[in-house]
Amino acid sequence: MVYLAVCSTMPPGGSLERQAATRARQAFLSGRTRPLEFRLQQLHALLKMITERETDIATALKQDLNRSQYDTPLLELTGLENEIKLAIDKLSVWAAPRAVERSVLTLSDQVYVRPQPLGVVLIIGAWNYPWALTLGPLVGAIAAGNAAVVKPSELSECSSLLLRALLPRYLDKDLYPVVTGGVSETQELLRQRFDHVFYTGSSSVGRLVMEAAAAHLTPVTLELGGKSPCYVHPDCNIRVAARRITWGKFVNCGQTCIAPDYVLCEPSVQNQLIECIRLTLLEFYGADPKSSPDYGRIINQRHFNRILSLMEGYNPVIGGQSDASQRYIAPTVLRDVPPQSRLMQEEIFGPVLPLVAVSDIDDAIRFINEREKPLALYVFCTDQKGIEKMLEETTSGGVLVNDVLMHYTLSSLPFGGVGHSGMGRYHGKHSFEQLSHMRSCLVRSLAMESVNLSRYPPQDRRRARRARMAMRAPLIDMSRRTFVWAVSATVIAVVLMVTLVVILLIAAGLNCTCWYWRGIYNYFW
Ligand code: NAD
Repeated sequence: MVYLAVCSTMPPGGSLERQAATRARQAFLSGRTRPLEFRLQQLHALLKMITERETDIATALKQDLNRSQYDTPLLELTGLENEIKLAIDKLSVWAAPRAVERSVLTLSDQVYVRPQPLGVVLIIGAWNYPWALTLGPLVGAIAAGNAAVVKPSELSECSSLLLRALLPRYLDKDLYPVVTGGVSETQELLRQRFDHVFYTGSSSVGRLVMEAAAAHLTPVTLELGGKSPCYVHPDCNIRVAARRITWGKFVNCGQTCIAPDYVLCEPSVQNQLIECIRLTLLEFYGADPKSSPDYGRIINQRHFNRILSLMEGYNPVIGGQSDASQRYIAPTVLRDVPPQSRLMQEEIFGPVLPLVAVSDIDDAIRFINEREKPLALYVFCTDQKGIEKMLEETTSGGVLVNDVLMHYTLSSLPFGGVGHSGMGRYHGKHSFEQLSHMRSCLVRSLAMESVNLSRYPPQDRRRARRARMAMRAPLIDMSRRTFVWAVSATVIAVVLMVTLVVILLIAAGLNCTCWYWRGIYNYFW
């Protein structure tokens, strides 16, 4: 019904995907996204949609992933609301021209960077957090003044259909159309020309997205996945570390891009860690996680079979049970997993936690650096030198010490991968900047032509030397803060000077007075 309604609003001719792209382009070219008031109004409407429709969204996620009603705000909606509120609050500052340093030759000119909308953005989302991963980038697109075609994942079908039904009711229909469908629809969308493609999903599809975007020289943001390692140092509180790791690994049934994929620790730590994870699982999900309302399900049969095949040949120390009829896989822990195994080559993206033995922190660093750069790295350690060593000698999209996942919740931190885990970043101001064109602006006046003479022909040694000296002079910070400092320093200097002069005058005056009286005295006596 909703699908027909969407189709009937499409102009005739071309595929639905092309029509959505064209419609968004025409709406963008109308110029209505340029005023900040319009963007603010759309952001308020998006916020309204999320708060008014929280129950519908939670129901859709229950159907897609058996997500608990309490986890929906905790894992997706509150973060989204915060992102929208931040954008509403800061938009005028983010969108304002930013003054930059000047050279001697441009001292009297206006030199600034002016954020500009890119145009039409294609947002392709993944299924594991279907709302945060489509609406998160959309917040940045709206704030930056772009139009956006939103393509949610076909795997989280209920969320996808709900998003397609809701978004046009709250936001401008033409500027932000939702296109649903699978691989062929996404491929058709990728054949259209966009000004930016924001893709969240697997690295293998990320490569295809980048190839398709290259045909139009369209820049991409790729929020990809991979194996995020977690190192547990023997000096840390294993009980607390186990609780945090257990939460981050098994929340959303292990289907989180920044979930700790595997744990590296010394053999002496393994037994302790396993016992603590066992106790934590009991605490979180009870003796039978299958009947816990807080424990999720695998998104579809294909992923269910994939995860079971990764577990083949292992004897789980915890869990291992499954039920195909419900796509249930118990929280599972495997110990002493060989580094060369298939389980250690592919991203697990399910509730299976392998423990890999390393001899010490150096061995762990070597292990991490031999593999693709991860999206997240987790380090449990209390020794400051050990923490510093890990930060210094490894790389990853983000790093979190003594916890998991929480860096995602901070809008001030840029979220994104490096190398195989992705390119580009978003959240908060970073989303705005990622989806803006930072235009360089130099506005000169036609006066003071004498300043320019040294660069014009005919050149001679003196002119060339003068031009080179001017070009080599350091850049000058003329920002407001520097200006205020300069003015304050000048005022203080002038006040001090005046005080000094007054003191000198008084002193000279006293001296004169003394001489005057002494002269009279001498005259009479
Ligand atoms: P998915 O299968 O839902 O695919 C994501 C999108 O790509 C969907 O919209 C889908 O239609 C499209 N797609 C799939 N195959 C395609 C093809 N051949 N050509 C064009 N488009 C295609 O999601 P997924 O890839 O299974 O997602 C899981 C992966 O995403 C994991 O690797 C996970 O780590 C990663 N992920 C990353 C982040 C992040 O923020 N970095 C967040 C969530 C998930």
